[in-house]
Amino acid sequence: MLKLKGIAASQGIAIGRAYCLGEDEFSIPKRKISYEEISREIYRMEEALIDTRKEIVTIQDKISKELGFSEAKIFEAHLLVLEDRVLIEDVIKQIKSKKVNVEFAFSRSIKKYTDALLNFDDEYLKERAIDIKDIGKRVLRKLLKRDTDRIYNIKEKVIIVTHDLSPADTAVLPKDKIIGFATDIGGSTSHTAIIARTLGIPAVVGLDVLTKHTVCNEMLIVDGSEGVVVVRPLERTIKSYQKKLEQIRKIEEAIHVPRAFKPKTVDGKEVIVSANIELPEELPLIKHFGAEGVGLYRTEYIFLGRNKLPSEEEQFKAYFNVAKTLKPSSVIIRTMDVGGDKFLSRPEMPHEFTPFLGWRAIRFCLARPDIFKVQLRAILRASVEKNIQIMFPMISGISELREAKRLLDECRGELKKEGRYFDNDIKIGVMIEVPSAALTADALAKECDFFSIGTNDLIQYSLAVDRANEKVAYLYEPAHPAVLRLIKDVISSAHKNNIWVGMCGEMAGEIIFAFLLLGLGLDELSMPPPRIPKIKELIRKIRLSDAKDAASKVIDFSTSAEIERYLQDYLRNILKGDSRQLLGA
Ligand code: PEP
Ligand code: MG
Repeated sequence: MLKLKGIAASQGIAIGRAYCLGEDEFSIPKRKISYEEISREIYRMEEALIDTRKEIVTIQDKISKELGFSEAKIFEAHLLVLEDRVLIEDVIKQIKSKKVNVEFAFSRSIKKYTDALLNFDDEYLKERAIDIKDIGKRVLRKLLKRDTDRIYNIKEKVIIVTHDLSPADTAVLPKDKIIGFATDIGGSTSHTAIIARTLGIPAVVGLDVLTKHTVCNEMLIVDGSEGVVVVRPLERTIKSYQKKLEQIRKIEEAIHVPRAFKPKTVDGKEVIVSANIELPEELPLIKHFGAEGVGLYRTEYIFLGRNKLPSEEEQFKAYFNVAKTLKPSSVIIRTMDVGGDKFLSRPEMPHEFTPFLGWRAIRFCLARPDIFKVQLRAILRASVEKNIQIMFPMISGISELREAKRLLDECRGELKKEGRYFDNDIKIGVMIEVPSAALTADALAKECDFFSIGTNDLIQYSLAVDRANEKVAYLYEPAHPAVLRLIKDVISSAHKNNIWVGMCGEMAGEIIFAFLLLGLGLDELSMPPPRIPKIKELIRKIRLSDAKDAASKVIDFSTSAEIERYLQDYLRNILKGDSRQLLGA
């Protein structure tokens, strides 16, 4: 049994088998095996060699048909490696003498061979080394079952174990087959974490060495509340986690808020609690968890993981479907936020050294009106039900907002000419997620209809902490006094200019922060749907006057630790009986 500590990314507990998804440069787990397991490991190698052979012959056939026989001949060298007795005997020798798993033995042998060949000053031998490395990867991929397609055929629900999960991978995974996520890298607002939270799937990220220690199909426990993963748990550990799981279920049942209930504080302040969504399968969650519409629709997911950009018609259908399903509730459609850690396939987006500071979101869109205007037209066309609002991400100053609005106007003009209908009064919002936007919020507020504070980014940019990097995750503090001051000023600028201001960053769905944010004057909170019942229950148990009082105190504190402790204690004092359980939820 091995216990690893990572970053708690999505609450809850999952107990199940590991499903390893990988990249090409995956890490190889090392495991001691017993004498009885030796023959099984050798058999696994033989199977993997046969499967790889079949795979290569298929590729060879295809290339031979498409490009001709001579091109296909390059695979002959690969096939020879698969039959190389010296290599195979070396792997068997290691399995037997060192009693290690086949993946580890095989990768060691491949490395030994390639290193030896690369040492010769001979081009032919160097090429052979590349062949061996390449074929080694193919065999290892079979052994580690690192193959995305297989997941569609599995019967049992699994825990996804991987070094990293790109938003594009996440978008195409069959979520109904997944009970947990565990990754080597990532922070609490990286996109795996966000999707997991939206779907209510327990997740731990930033585990650093998890893939090195996990063999596919092994038992795993993911404790998304504590940020712990247990690999190969003992029977009694499984039992104790099962008990914990039962307790969580009881708490969830106790926090049962009627879906139609409008969240209102004890002293009468109504608050809008809406949902963040990314993917079509999340749509039913909105009604299920009782959200009042959508506060953030991350449309970029429609664009990810595909070779061709979605057409205006395809986008129109997607947006219209959400708007129509949720009518009369409002849907805030955020224009695509690609870049950062969400990439379109090349050639549209080149590689960048600092993508979070680079060609992302509105910057990309303004530089590529050919792509952006297709989306704007689709959103406008979908607005006929008059419940859509549009929001621009990563605005850093007024010029970007003006340029985006100009392009929107161009699209309006085009649609009018074509005789198409759309909502002429569509409301336009700005995400406040760049410090320069927060600091010039008074100017921005004069030229838009609402703000939504994106703290996932606002925190990373104001504290200079990469939100997806587990190494600096300890510095990622939502309650950092600098962040709170920015939030307070943004709210005040919005209200002075008579526009409403919400928050769609993950912070809005955390109990103590939601309390603080209401006290700071926020009008709307938007969050992953499973967080909604708890936040609604909180609102109905507190007074706005208390929240204001707590906020006015902590705004002068100097560390986030003090602020969090104060808020915890404040809420513990005012919440009674069962409601106190909210503090652990
Ligand atoms: C944010 O930055 O807070 C936000 C909601 O946007 P995203 O997480 O998609 O960057
Ligand atoms: Mg953002």
